[in-house]
Amino acid sequence: AKKASKSSVQFYSQELKEASQRIIELENALQSAITNHEFELFLQPMLDLTSGTILKAEALLRWNRLDGERIGPDEFIPIAEQTGLIVPIGKWVISRACEMISTLNHRGYSCKLSVNLSPRQISDRHLLEFIRGSIQNSHILPNQLELELTEGVLVDNYDKVQYLLTEVRKLGVSVSIDDFGTGYSSLSYLKKLPIDHIKIDRSFVQDLVSDENDKAIILAIIAMAHSLKLNVIAEGVETELQRNFLQLNHCNLAQGYLFSRPLPFAQFCDYLSASPTQ
Ligand code: C2E
Ligand code: CA
Ligand code: CA
Ligand code: CA
Repeated sequence: AKKASKSSVQFYSQELKEASQRIIELENALQSAITNHEFELFLQPMLDLTSGTILKAEALLRWNRLDGERIGPDEFIPIAEQTGLIVPIGKWVISRACEMISTLNHRGYSCKLSVNLSPRQISDRHLLEFIRGSIQNSHILPNQLELELTEGVLVDNYDKVQYLLTEVRKLGVSVSIDDFGTGYSSLSYLKKLPIDHIKIDRSFVQDLVSDENDKAIILAIIAMAHSLKLNVIAEGVETELQRNFLQLNHCNLAQGYLFSRPLPFAQFCDYLSASPTQ
């Protein structure tokens, strides 16, 4: 038994070593990923459930490494966050999203794009100026850009967030609460902060049809949001049954594989041109 436990400890430390080597490798590679043009923004449409038109899309970051390896945001965003690299990467995301909006405008589509903000970006003093500059440089309307923040970001940096959101609202940029329902339970921020939309987390939508509790939670979120004059977006909609339930219960927008996976820009344009006009 002694021998076995020793070898399992060795095995464990071997795994740890490999995991930390991987993190160090990705950390190094991330340093030069922007200059090497390894990042790409995919777009996932959000549909208006009443009209079926695409009003906006979420920008989701993809990392295509020079050696051909594709790494998902769930693996590299936490590393970028820890090392602070998320600040320049997040700026790249914002300016690229503004460029895409501008290109869409030139092609005759008035589509909004939302970008995800990490906690670390909120602490960046230059963020607000950067957003203002990106909007100006690309000649888009400020209300075509939206920001997605999770509940955790709001609560951890309350004062900074309050200042930032008030200022971005003055610019005309709108704000969504992402992954709603998975973070802190205090809801007081909803009436204190200038928020426009709530995105219901995928975990509630997933079993919506079979799970009475998830149904009740979704109905409560929609009712609360609407009484606070907030729009509701359901994430992770994969089936017609989910869509019908959401539509029937006055959820405003839906996003998920049922409509489309996140798409490269060119394919997103094709998708837009084939869908009902706005
Ligand atoms: P998120 O903001 O909650 O984004 C939604 C995620 O759900 C995306 O994963 C999307 O591909 C996935 N998804 C959408 N519809 C469905 C569906 O019907 N079923 C299922 N199973 N999944 C669906 P993705 O692109 O892998 O992104 C993961 C997370 O990485 C995002 O979660 C976000 O937290 C983070 N992320 C992505 N891009 C950025 C970025 O530019 N900046 C920051 N800070 N974080 C980002
Ligand atoms: Ca999001
Ligand atoms: Ca989300
Ligand atoms: Ca999520």
